[in-house]
Amino acid sequence: MERKMSPESLMMSYGYKPELSEGAIKSPIFQTSTFVFKSAEEGKAFFEVAYGLRAQHEGEKLGLIYSRINNPDLEILENRLTLWDEAEECAVFESGMSAITTVLLEFLKPGDLLLISNPLYGGSDHFTKKILPKFGIHVAAFKVGQTHEQIIEIVNKTGLAEKLALIFIETPANPTNDLIDISGSKAIAKHFSNASKNVYLAVDNTYMGPIWQHPLKHGADLVLYSATKYIGGHSDVIAGACLGSAELIKRVKGLRTFLGNMAGPWTGWLLLRSLETLKARMDIQAFNAEKVAEFLNRHPLAEKVYYLGNITEKSSSQYDIKKRQCLSNGGMISFDIKGGEQEAFRFLDSLKLIKLAVSLGSTESLAEHPATMTHADVDPADKLELSISEKMIRLSIGVESYHDIIYDIEQALDKVPDKIMCP
Ligand SMILES: *Cc1c(COP(=O)(O)O)cnc(C)c1O
Repeated sequence: MERKMSPESLMMSYGYKPELSEGAIKSPIFQTSTFVFKSAEEGKAFFEVAYGLRAQHEGEKLGLIYSRINNPDLEILENRLTLWDEAEECAVFESGMSAITTVLLEFLKPGDLLLISNPLYGGSDHFTKKILPKFGIHVAAFKVGQTHEQIIEIVNKTGLAEKLALIFIETPANPTNDLIDISGSKAIAKHFSNASKNVYLAVDNTYMGPIWQHPLKHGADLVLYSATKYIGGHSDVIAGACLGSAELIKRVKGLRTFLGNMAGPWTGWLLLRSLETLKARMDIQAFNAEKVAEFLNRHPLAEKVYYLGNITEKSSSQYDIKKRQCLSNGGMISFDIKGGEQEAFRFLDSLKLIKLAVSLGSTESLAEHPATMTHADVDPADKLELSISEKMIRLSIGVESYHDIIYDIEQALDKVPDKIMCP
C-alpha cells in the first residue's frame, strides 16, 4: 500500500515533472503568453475542452492554450493548493479580492439575495454593500453570536428568502477574532435550498491560512484566500485562490477566463516557492503568537486581548465553535491599549522591530490601527458594535524570535507616557 504523504511533504514536488523541463528540479517560470499546438487537430480539441463544447474523453486533460486560460506555473500551484483543503479543484487569481469578487459575480445575478457575516474584510464589505447593489443584488447581514433562528428571521424579513443564492462568511473575523459557525452557516444554506435551487456557502479562510482551518470539511462549498497573506507569506506578492468541487471551480474558472483576472506565471512561481515553507512558517507564527498573547494578557496597559487562545470553555460561548473548526489559535492578536487613539499611535510609532503596516500572515511581524486604517471605511455604528475602537491595535505575528517581538512590544508600551494615560 502506498503511503499517503502529508501536504507539507509534497509541496516541493507535487504536480511537477522534471523530465518535461530539462530535468530542472524546480519548475521554470513559464513566462509565455501562448503555447504552440502540435497540430491543428490538437488546437481544435484543446478549445473544445476549454470552452466546454463537448464532454471530455476519459482522462482527457485541458491542454495548454494561452496563459489567460492556463499556464504550467498556475496549474502546479493549483494542484498543490488542493492538498491542504483536500479540495477537488482550485483556481488562482491575481488578488484575494479578484477571487472573492469573481465568486460573488458567478453565483449571484440581479434580484438575488446575498447573506453575509459582519464584519467582513474592508474590501469585501465595500464590494458587497456598495458595488453589488448597483447590479440589483440585495444584501442582508448577520453578526457573531446570532442564533440559527435569528439568522433565518433576518433572511425572512427581507421578503426575498426565495431569492437567497449565496452565503458569504469570514471566520475568524478581522480584526476581533470573532468566530462564525461554518457548519451552522451550512445549515442556514440548506434551510433555504430546495429542489430547484442550491444555496451555496463560501468562506473567506484568509485568517487561518490553509493549515489551521478547513471549511470544506465543515460544509462550505467554496473556500477563498487572499494568498497575499499566509500562503505568499513574504509581503512580496498579491494573489488569491478559490477551492471547491470540480463542478463549482469550473464555473469560477469560466468567469475568470472572461474577466482575465488569473494570476501571472511569475506570481504562480513565487507562490510555489512560498508553499514549500508554509507549514513551517505558520507553526512558528502560532507558537510566537501564543507567547505574545501570554505577555499581553499580563500587561497592565493591554485592557483587552482578542486572541483565539483566550476563548476558553468558561470565558465564551464561542468555545464550541472554536473546538469544532479551528486547528490552532492562529497568528493574529488584537488588543485594546489603555487610553485612546493618542496612546495607540504613540505605541505604533515607538515600535522598532515590528513594522507599522497593514496586511498580515508574513514572515515579519506587523502592527496597525484598524479604526483608522484597515477598517476606516466601516460604518461608525458597526465599528462601535464590533468593538473596533480607537484603542484597538492589530498585530500579525511573524517568525522572528518571540523574545525580540515581546521586547519590542514592551519597550513601545513603555513609551506611552503616564500623562497621556491619566490626563
Ligand atoms: C487581504 C484580505 C483580502 C483581500 O486580499 P487581497 O489579496 O489584498 O486582494 C480578503 N480577505 C481577507 C480576510 C484579507 O485579509
